Amino acid sequence: MVQCPKCKTKLSKPQKIWKHRELDVHFFVCNNCGTRFREYMRNGETKYTLMLKDSHYRKV
Ligand SMILES: [Zn+2]
Repeated sequence: MVQCPKCKTKLSKPQKIWKHRELDVHFFVCNNCGTRFREYMRNGETKYTLMLKDSHYRKV
């Protein structure tokens, strides 16, 4: 379960999952505000989050 970095809505199901080096990337689209973001995870723990803003991904 992760939270949208913008509106804090809880989201359980990523739209897509892929590997980035040793990390698992979980891609979400918030079903409340439509924010797109990626959770970079290792062993089920979030390492960092990138949020799409003005067509660029930024760390949040
Ligand atoms: Zn949201």
